[in-house]
Order: sequence, then C-alpha cells, then structure tokens
Amino acid sequence: MVRYQLEDRGVTDPKVLAAMGKVRREAFVPAAERDFAYSDGPLPIGHGQTISQPFIVALMTEALQLNGGERVLEIGTGSGYAAAVLAEIAADVFTIERIAELAESARLALEEQGCANIHVKCDDGTLGWKEHAPYDAIVATASGPSVPKSLKDQLKIGGRLVMPVGSQFGGQQLMRVTRVSETDYQHEELDWVRFVPLIGEQGW
Ligand code: SAM
Repeated sequence: MVRYQLEDRGVTDPKVLAAMGKVRREAFVPAAERDFAYSDGPLPIGHGQTISQPFIVALMTEALQLNGGERVLEIGTGSGYAAAVLAEIAADVFTIERIAELAESARLALEEQGCANIHVKCDDGTLGWKEHAPYDAIVATASGPSVPKSLKDQLKIGGRLVMPVGSQFGGQQLMRVTRVSETDYQHEELDWVRFVPLIGEQGW
C-alpha cells in the first residue's frame, strides 16, 4: 500500500509514510470488509459513511505540514483510522464525529490499538472544539459549502486547515487555509476530491 498507492503517487513526507505503514487499517474497517482493508479505495463503515481511501488520508495528512508534536483537530472521526495516522505524528489529536454509533466504535478501535493521545467526542464538528483551541492543524474529512468560521477562529497563527469545499453531490476542491495573522488567512487550492457532506450548523 505504501509503495504503490502512496509513494508512486507522489507522497514523500517520511513521517506520513511511516505512520501509514504502521497503523493497521484492518483494525478500523467492519469485519465484512477486512479482506479489502488495503484495497485502493474508500470502504463502507455503516450509516452511509466511509473510511477514506489510504491515498487521500496520506494526501491530507501531508498537506497539514506536521513536524511532530502538534495539537491537531479532526472533524469527521468516522472509523478512527485517519485519527490514528495523525496521532503517530502529532502530540494530541482531538476528533469529533456527529454520529454517536461511529464515535463509539472509533473510540473502541482506537483504545484497542493503544492510541492514548486521541480524544473523541460526539458533536457537531463544524463548531470546532473550543476548550482545546487553538490548534496547530485542523482537518475536516467531510466536505462543506465553505470553511466554517469557527474552525478558522480556532487555528493558531501559522496553523494550517485542510478540508474539501464545494458541491454536496459532485467533486470538491481540497483547500489549505493558513492563518497568517489574527485577521488574515491564505487560501490554496490543492487536489480535486470526492467526500461525504459535512452536516452541521456551519456546514450543509
Ligand atoms: N476520517 C474518517 C476515517 O478515517 O474513517 C473518514 C470520515 S468519513 C469520510 C466523514 C465523517 O464525517 C463521517 O463519519 C460523518 O458522519 C462525519 N461528519 C459529517 N459531518 C460532521 C460534523 N458536522 N461533525 C462531525 N462529523 C461529521
């Protein structure tokens, strides 16, 4: 998976490649999908949601430009897989899932994998997680009509936010937003992607 799906497609950050090589994706997919855990695509995890394609997890993690030791916020815990990858690099990962059953099964899977630096809560992630802000990096693994203001407000100056923005039904543009001052943000367009919708007060 790391060689053919990631390196061959241009993922180069050694921290990201090591994390992707270490986290057991099969521990985060439903039993019925386990044979396909290292296939090159998303997989269903129930409730109409998916665990993202490994390449997309690596692409978004690399886009966060982590050096190690950061405090990261993830919106859309889903299976918990991307949180486990982030937690291999970051010091602390705070992750929010709106579907209670998914939040609970992710919490269990993360506990079983010994991921002690991940904190899961069930809530509307479009509002962020104020108690632990500001964050060095924020990633949303569901697509919204725009970048939620609450998430931008909870980013440190110099921090990066990566999320898909665009249509609810077609493809979306993966965006990186860097906070350059108290009031200013720099926006970059990365790849085209296709994600499930970010549903909430500052989403769809
Ligand atoms: N990162 C996940 C993984 O590794 O399995 C994949 C996440 S899946 C593509 C997107 C997730 O975002 C879904 O589980 C969905 O329920 C969740 N979601 C959508 N809107 C949300 C919101 N406002 N707050 C928190 N989670 C949300």
